[in-house]
Amino acid sequence: MTQSIRILLIEDNLEEAAQVRQVLRETEEPFSVEHAETLFAGIDKLLSQEIDVILLDLDLPDSEGLGTIIALHFQVPQMPIVVLTSIADRNLAASVIQEGAQDCLPKTNVDADSLTRSIRYAIERTHRERAESTLRNSEARYRGLVNSLPVCVLQKDLDGRFIFANRAYSEFTGHDANDILGKTDFDLSPQDVAEKFRQDDLKVVRTGRQFRDVEVNTTDGKTTWVEVIKSPIRDARGEVVGTQAIFWDVSERQLAVEALTQAKEAAEDASRAKSEFLANMSHEIRTPLNAVIGMTELLLDTQLTQTQRDYLKMILESGESLLSIINDILDFSKIEAGKLDLHIKPFEIRETVGDMMKPLGVRAGANHVELTCHFDASVPAVVEGDAHRLRQVVVNLVGNAIKFTEVGEIDFDVQVDSITPENEAILHFQVRDTGIGIPEDKLGTIFEAFEQADSGSTRQYGGTGLGLAICARLVDLMDGKIWVESTLGEGSTFHFTGRFPIAESNGQMRREGTTRVQGTRVLIVDDNATNRLILDEIVRNWGMRPLMAADAEEGLMLLHEAVSAGDPFTILLTDFEMPGKNGVELIEAIRESKELRSTLVTMLSSSERPTTRSQCEALDVNAFLMKPVKQSELFDAIVVALGVELPESEWHLQALEDRESIRPLKILLAEDNIANQRLAIALLEKWGHEVTLAVNGQEALDTWRADTYDLVVMDVQMPEMDGLEATRRIRNIEKIRGGHIPIVAMTAHALAGDREKCLAAGMDGYTSKPLRIDDLYEAIAQFFTSGSNESPSPVQPQQVASGSHFNWTHALRACDGDRVLLLDLLKIFIDETPRLLDRLDAALADDRSDDAYRAIHTVVGSLRILGPGPASEAARTLEQAIISGNLTRAADLTGPLHEKLEQLYSLAADIVSGRQLLP
Ligand code: ADP
Repeated sequence: MTQSIRILLIEDNLEEAAQVRQVLRETEEPFSVEHAETLFAGIDKLLSQEIDVILLDLDLPDSEGLGTIIALHFQVPQMPIVVLTSIADRNLAASVIQEGAQDCLPKTNVDADSLTRSIRYAIERTHRERAESTLRNSEARYRGLVNSLPVCVLQKDLDGRFIFANRAYSEFTGHDANDILGKTDFDLSPQDVAEKFRQDDLKVVRTGRQFRDVEVNTTDGKTTWVEVIKSPIRDARGEVVGTQAIFWDVSERQLAVEALTQAKEAAEDASRAKSEFLANMSHEIRTPLNAVIGMTELLLDTQLTQTQRDYLKMILESGESLLSIINDILDFSKIEAGKLDLHIKPFEIRETVGDMMKPLGVRAGANHVELTCHFDASVPAVVEGDAHRLRQVVVNLVGNAIKFTEVGEIDFDVQVDSITPENEAILHFQVRDTGIGIPEDKLGTIFEAFEQADSGSTRQYGGTGLGLAICARLVDLMDGKIWVESTLGEGSTFHFTGRFPIAESNGQMRREGTTRVQGTRVLIVDDNATNRLILDEIVRNWGMRPLMAADAEEGLMLLHEAVSAGDPFTILLTDFEMPGKNGVELIEAIRESKELRSTLVTMLSSSERPTTRSQCEALDVNAFLMKPVKQSELFDAIVVALGVELPESEWHLQALEDRESIRPLKILLAEDNIANQRLAIALLEKWGHEVTLAVNGQEALDTWRADTYDLVVMDVQMPEMDGLEATRRIRNIEKIRGGHIPIVAMTAHALAGDREKCLAAGMDGYTSKPLRIDDLYEAIAQFFTSGSNESPSPVQPQQVASGSHFNWTHALRACDGDRVLLLDLLKIFIDETPRLLDRLDAALADDRSDDAYRAIHTVVGSLRILGPGPASEAARTLEQAIISGNLTRAADLTGPLHEKLEQLYSLAADIVSGRQLLP
């Protein structure tokens, strides 16, 4: 429905007003009419009501002539007005329109049509005028605004001609805005700059999108950096008809950015230089330290008085602690420089962590603090990760716990937080101590470098404050988190998590061995509740039947009770240090009791005192284990005690365990440092290898060409030609001559990337300095054990040694699993025993029983580590005969002993020479 047009009729003559109304009624238009008889009444209505148009009589009681129009427009500007006059006068009509009315009609004879047309025209015209004036106003406002902006604004048509430029732009260019209009960028800027502007404009036109850039603007010879926003100008239909650019000067900012970039590059250079410097410095410090530690280890292997041994141990410990500080600093700088990577390999986490705990257990034990270690049963046996870096974190946290705990205990615990869909275990490690605790305000900062809770001048505890910072970054590399909870004076719990893929080899673990201990009754005696619970959980998981006692008295009572009940304990696991009766006293009581005497005993202790060991031996203790005890060794000890052992512990994965003896090799050693030369030669020769020395890369190359070797051990940094270059050349010659000699790198550089450099140069293995016996052994062993692909050996091992002469499990355990040591001992055994027997024979012939005893006692001792067998039995019988003073019988027994020993010699000689392998 069309809206009615609201008309205000201002007419003092009522008759005439009625006539107008009548005419309006005759139209078909939807008019509504308001009537006022005076100007004031009309204005009143105009202000209080919505009116579209006024029909106006000029002569009113309160106003006359054109003044009436002026008065109305004053009150309501731009109101459409149609004047109705009594006389038709052209001049009057012209004046009326000039004053702002839209039309002028005679009152008399006005017909409906012309009135309607006039009204409509008046309304439309006023609307148009209103719109035009709004447009003019807004344009004026726009220009005013744009001209007052501190940024340059300009508009161009599609040909690139300026159609608008604001005041800022004309100031920027130094040209009057009117001079700019009609020009193009090519008139104001150099060709290349103008071309860029043009291309950018065309891009905006083509894409219809806004464009933003920081660019060089050279206009009228002045160059500045500007930030520019260009956008399309569209007409009413949305067509792009030109471009608009807004830009402003960013020269200052740009200069600051450039200065910042330069500063950043300089800082990065400095950081690189720092990292290089640290690597070099660490090399320089490690080289002499290498000699100090290595030579000390060698000296410790010789015959020494106790005092000399103690001094040397102190040198070794100090050297190692210096090395660990250097390693800390180097690690930290490597991590800071983003150069530390994890080396991910599968490892048996219980074994690896268990091994880390041993020396920590001894340290804790020395402070009379108990260290316990618990793995939840759900923790996978084999995971993938960097065991070395995990060790660093664990040793640091447990080391700190020991350092800051005077009484109580330290519990290390591992749980599985979750298993990811990618079959990765998120492990949660906790180290809880009952030590001094950490003040609340320090809890947030101790993970930062060089931060210590107790940093005042009265510091009681040593340290660099780097340990936790390194831990935090290593944990970060393991995708984990580290945090601490602590109450001052009560203790702290450090937590960390890490992501460890579960190794596929888990499936290969052989666990059937536990059936052999199932159902066996075991008594656990330990004053420490945590330890009791851990041991209880472990043996329960193997299907054993445990019971716990908190001290020796309770233990004894339970042992007796079990006998009375007809279900005695087969085996006892007892702690050594306990209030009241200690472990040894408990065992003494057991051995004195007729009904308990035969109980098998495993002793757990956190102190390494030799007297305790010998007391235990005298009391027929089956095994003596250092705390915290590893599950695997506890299992081994129990099966050995029960007499149900297999030759090898079934806890170890074959793949992770391959550590076999290396046959004697012909080795070319390239090393320039004299101390390192002596150390490496001493180690290699100790293992039975023949070593040829070259003092630089060139000499190594020449020596290698002139002879045949099994292996090259190559220092990386050497004068004249370094190890990498020498290796490259050897590999090049091999391309022609054929063959591939294993080359193991030795380097004091331990930055990530060094290994890759060595491998890229053609080296096959890598060991870092200071040379550690185990590392060097491993680096060589990978090529010369039966698992390795290399088989250049002229003396091929024939078979795995077997037979009843040696008890290998026993012998290896006596050497702490160290095959190299066992080989050394076998060598000594072959060299020494015949001499001892000669001495024995001579002493027996001369009736010198003391000398004879000393000789046979030494033989018995060296046979002990090889385990029970015919030879050790014969030697022991002979020893008994000498002790009982029966030298004639002793002389008779030497024949059978010689015979048994001969068999042992030949087997030992085969093994030492590499003809047979250790199992
Ligand atoms: P530091 O070499 O000084 O031990 P760390 O980074 O390992 O350096 O430890 C930083 C500081 O955190 C320590 O100096 C000590 O104040 C505090 N701290 C760390 N572990 C413990 C803890 N188990 N109990 C109490 N304080 C601790």
